[in-house]
Amino acid sequence: MRTNSAPRIAIIGAGMAGASCAQLLASAGWAVQVFDKSRGVGGRMSTRRLDWTDASGSAHPASFDHGAPCFSAHSADFASFVAQAAGDGLLTRWSPRMAPSSYLPLGSPDLWTPTPDMPALCRSLLAGLPVRTGCAIEALRRDESGWRLESGGTTVDQGFAAVVVAIPPAQAAALLQDHQAAWAQQAQAQKMLPGWALMAVTDEIASAEAPAWDLAWPSSGPLAWVIRDDAKPGRKPQPGLTHWVAHATVDWSQTHLEAPAAEVEAALKQALAQQLGRQPHWHYSTVHRWRYASVPRAAASSISTTTHRWDAAIGLGACGDALGGAGVEGAWASARALAAAINASSKTPLSHDRPAHA
Ligand SMILES: Cc1cc2nc3c(=O)[nH]c(=O)nc-3n(C[C@H](O)[C@H](O)[C@H](O)COP(=O)(O)OP(=O)(O)OC[C@H]3O[C@@H](n4cnc5c(N)ncnc54)[C@H](O)[C@@H]3O)c2cc1C
Repeated sequence: MRTNSAPRIAIIGAGMAGASCAQLLASAGWAVQVFDKSRGVGGRMSTRRLDWTDASGSAHPASFDHGAPCFSAHSADFASFVAQAAGDGLLTRWSPRMAPSSYLPLGSPDLWTPTPDMPALCRSLLAGLPVRTGCAIEALRRDESGWRLESGGTTVDQGFAAVVVAIPPAQAAALLQDHQAAWAQQAQAQKMLPGWALMAVTDEIASAEAPAWDLAWPSSGPLAWVIRDDAKPGRKPQPGLTHWVAHATVDWSQTHLEAPAAEVEAALKQALAQQLGRQPHWHYSTVHRWRYASVPRAAASSISTTTHRWDAAIGLGACGDALGGAGVEGAWASARALAAAINASSKTPLSHDRPAHA
C-alpha cells in the first residue's frame, strides 16, 4: 500500500520498459513518478493521429501504428503476461491475411497487438499513476536530500530515493554519465538500427482480381513490412480508403538515413505501388525516420552482460530493450528484472492493490 512515507522513485521514459517498471514498483509500495518527453506514453509502441484534407477541402481523421506494429512472446514468462493482458482485453492476436508475394508464410509464434492503438498497453500499465508527459529530463543531480531531475536548466522535481532510466541507450548515456560512467560508456557503444516508415492513405486496392491482404513481407526492394494498418484488430477502416504503414529494410534505412524526407517518401511510395501491383490514388502520405528503432538481437545479448542495471548504493537503475534482449519482450523482461532487483535491495511495503500483469 502506498503511504505518505513511501519512498519516491522517478521513472524516466513511459515506453514498455518504463511503464512496466512503474507498475511493478507501484504494486510493491513505491511512490512512483513517471516522466516522458513525448506528448503521450508508449514510446516506440506508438500510433500517430492526424487529419488529412481531400481535394474538396473535407478533413479526414487517420491513425497509423508507425512504430512497432506488433510483438511476439518467446519466453514462458512473457507468454503468461501476454495471456493475462489479452484476457483483460488489452491485447488481441493479429492474424493478418498474408500477401501471396511474401517470401515467408505467417508462422509461429503468434503476433499480438494492443487495441485500440499501440500505446494502449502502456496506458493501462500506467493507469492511476502520476505521469508527466512533454517533459524531457536533461540531467540527474544527487545530494543528501536525494535525486533531483532537471529539464531546460531548471529543477522539475526532487526528493527521489531512486531513479530508473528507461530510455534508449544513446539518450540514457547522457543522464548516466555523471553517476555511472561505465554504464554510460556501454550505452554509447550499443548499436541501434534505424528505420524509415511510410504512412499513406490510398483508394481501396482490393478487387476481384487482386484479393485483399493485410501484411506483406517483400523478398526484395526497399520494403521489409507492408501493413494494411486499418485492418489490424480494433482499428477503424473507412469505406473506400486504405491506410498503409510500410517499413523500409534496415539496410535501405541505413543507406538513406540522412536523405531528405521528400526523396525517401517518393522512393517508398514507388516501392509500395510495386507491391500493390498498380499505382494507387494517393490521398495522403508522409514518412517518419526512427533513428533508434530497434536493437540487433545478436548485439543485445553479446554487449549486455545483464538484463538491467541497478546500483543500490546510490539508487540508480536502467532498463529497456537494449538491455533485455531486444523488442517489446526485451523491454518488459528488463523492467521486470530491474523491479525485482530494486525490491530485493529495499525495505518497502509490499502491496497488491494494483493488478499486476507479471
Ligand atoms: C518501426 C519499428 C518497428 C518495430 N517492430 C517491432 C516488432 O515487430 N516487434 C518487437 O518486439 N519490437 C519492435 N520494435 C521495437 C520495440 O518497439 C521496442 O523494442 C520497445 O518498444 C522498446 O521499449 P522501451 O521502453 O525500451 O523504449 P521506448 O519505447 O523507446 O521508450 C522510451 C521512452 O522514453 C522517452 N524518453 C526518451 N528520452 C527521454 C528523456 N530524456 N526524458 C524523458 N523521456 C524520454 C521516449 O519518449 C519514450 O517514450 C519496433 C520498433 C520500431 C520503431
